[in-house]
Amino acid sequence: MGIGDDPPGRVAERPCYPRRPMRLIVTEKNNSAKKIADILGRGGAKADKTFKVPFYTWTDENGAEQMTIGLKGHVLGPAFPEGYSNWQKTDLHDLIDAELIKEPTDKNVVKAIKKVAKEADELVIATDFDREGELIGLEALEEMLDANPGLGTREEASQGALRIKRARYSALTKEEIERAFDQLDELSYPLANAGAARQDIDLLWGATLTRAVSLATRRFGSNFLSVGRVQSPTLGLVVERELERRAHVAKPFWELFAKFQHPDGSFEAHHATDKFWEKAEADAALAGTSSPGTVKSVTARKNTRKPPTPLNTTAFTTDASSRLGITPASAMRIAEDLYMDGFISYPRTDNTVYPVSLPVRELIASLVRVNEFSAAAGLLESGELKPTRGKKETTDHPPIYPTQAIHPGALEGPKKRVYELVVRRFLATFSPPMITESTRADIEAGSETYFVRGSVVVDPGFAAIYTYARSSDEEIPALKEGQSLELDGEPWLLDKETQPPSRISQGKLIEMMEERGLGTKATRADIIQKLYDRGYVYSNPPIPSETGVAMYDAFRKYVPRMATAEMTAQLEAEMDRIAGGEMTKGQVVGDSRDLLHKTWTEIDGSREDLAKVVWKGMDEDRILGPCKVCEEAGRTKEDGSPNMLRIIRAKKSGKRFVGCSGWTADDPESCDQTFPLPQRGDVFRLEDRCSVCDQTPRLKVVPFRGRPWNLCLNDDCESMQEMKRRRAEREAAKAAKAAMEEKPPPDKPSTATRKRKRAKTTVK
Ligand SMILES: [Zn+2]
Ligand SMILES: [Zn+2]
Repeated sequence: MGIGDDPPGRVAERPCYPRRPMRLIVTEKNNSAKKIADILGRGGAKADKTFKVPFYTWTDENGAEQMTIGLKGHVLGPAFPEGYSNWQKTDLHDLIDAELIKEPTDKNVVKAIKKVAKEADELVIATDFDREGELIGLEALEEMLDANPGLGTREEASQGALRIKRARYSALTKEEIERAFDQLDELSYPLANAGAARQDIDLLWGATLTRAVSLATRRFGSNFLSVGRVQSPTLGLVVERELERRAHVAKPFWELFAKFQHPDGSFEAHHATDKFWEKAEADAALAGTSSPGTVKSVTARKNTRKPPTPLNTTAFTTDASSRLGITPASAMRIAEDLYMDGFISYPRTDNTVYPVSLPVRELIASLVRVNEFSAAAGLLESGELKPTRGKKETTDHPPIYPTQAIHPGALEGPKKRVYELVVRRFLATFSPPMITESTRADIEAGSETYFVRGSVVVDPGFAAIYTYARSSDEEIPALKEGQSLELDGEPWLLDKETQPPSRISQGKLIEMMEERGLGTKATRADIIQKLYDRGYVYSNPPIPSETGVAMYDAFRKYVPRMATAEMTAQLEAEMDRIAGGEMTKGQVVGDSRDLLHKTWTEIDGSREDLAKVVWKGMDEDRILGPCKVCEEAGRTKEDGSPNMLRIIRAKKSGKRFVGCSGWTADDPESCDQTFPLPQRGDVFRLEDRCSVCDQTPRLKVVPFRGRPWNLCLNDDCESMQEMKRRRAEREAAKAAKAAMEEKPPPDKPSTATRKRKRAKTTVK
């Protein structure tokens, strides 16, 4: 049987009336379906909807029908079959061995693709070009084959017998889309299966361990304690740093300064000894300093700073976090929007080397025509454009680059700043290094030596366009060797102490996850968000809650496998082997189930001890912060420590509220501060003193449904007033919309129309 022949037995299922062949293109999101229809249909595509899902159709120059339809990412996911939902009655060993099923996560989209697939003669999978996209494409494909057996069977497809096409593109631009559809490829099953293995394993580990820990600690229903294969070791990174901070013992040291007079104005100099660890030595150095000082040496050195490397996902989120103060999760959301708009290339990439095929000269020429980026115009005058290279080179996607020159003013808020960052970084990678000159002068005063250091930018190089990296000038007066300088006043000592290691920023955390093979470029930001949503961390940079610390502590003691990155890194390696065809999904998931049986047995054996550790942490999290009323009244606990506001559950009603530890039933003078709390959902400490009003603790409320919100206990706080205003506005808008949509009865025009009619008559 040759390619193109109909397999026997299926001919009858084809429609028997003559019609034009239809090619169905399936994308990952509606935006990309629309964009591809715009590009391939040359603006002539028509939009329609089925089961509320938009699709786009046009007739190509050969008279064939074309259609694009967008998914909503994964529209199916692995799930446990019926019979495993009762937490108390299900044996976890059975749960681990359960045969997983695929369940639609968006029923309308599944119905829609099945319906349009019935009309299709040819399929093109045009989901995002990565492991996840391959899997999303495969999930959709299997549903479509079920709906239209004329296209083939799942088995034939999995053996590569069906010529299901795959469009792989890295940017939603005309050139890139046309190229991808000229060079259609085939779906990669190993790649999709690697993604599927991860999904199955995450579900099995997540469900089993979450149940195991929640059962051990007797936290049921919505109060469950979430545990995850990647989530728990990530929490470990944050907690480890916090424990280092707590273990830190501050060590005192002294620094010595002197001020010298100079015709250009007095300046400060630092003693040549960086830190004095003994007070006596510092005092001796201070006593040994006398006026005037003499400049002993002046040395100048040129420093060269290399331009940055091309952006991959990790570098991008780090940059967005450190340069723009945008969290990794938001930065990725914004980057995806910009990608969907066709302004930047695909933002999920590990690559840090531009492919040779990238038309860099044209791109730079169009970018520097935009006013904001004209500082890089000089690049075009140099003969060869030579970009920097990072360490990682992959062939799937290019590094993140701007695909289109647009005026940043056309964008708004953070979107504008992120686009600018991508453009500036791109231009910087072709730019010369930044040259600075630093000068150091040593001044002898009595028996002691002081120094002063300055630095000026001689040539900004790449920093002229990548302005975030430009170092500020620190100028010092012109000094000559042998010059005599009078002291300006007495020298002075500063007492300082060593600081604990700083907390890990979200950007840095993503970098650390990457180094340890925790998560993927597609999931890292979401995993950090989950730690916030479950109350294991709060604030920014993330600080672990006591529950978070306790969870990690319990794992380290009783299930060390869950506390470290090792297991997960090994899984990542196996995933690569599935993608490379060296292992099957069945083998990898099977091995993982074995390990999970062992892990559950370990937890089960130590459940009492584990629970005690976790309970203690949760108990401490009920303490929200010192009571300001007591503080101002000078009331403390007997040991002098402050009275604390904490979450209390009323014995009779079971309702929770916030009360002060300074309250005692038989003392009418004691603190009777109380604050109501929402009774549903989880509450976590956000700040022990609200950063807006500085009066009371501030909490995060995570409702069962809907988005988490911040609650300041102080009702008069500006943040709460603001929230109430916004809520009222939303409700007013909703009411107005409802009124608009209310249809008038068929024979009687609505008041609004009647009024309009009357108005018209009056004008006449
Ligand atoms: Zn109080
Ligand atoms: Zn407040």
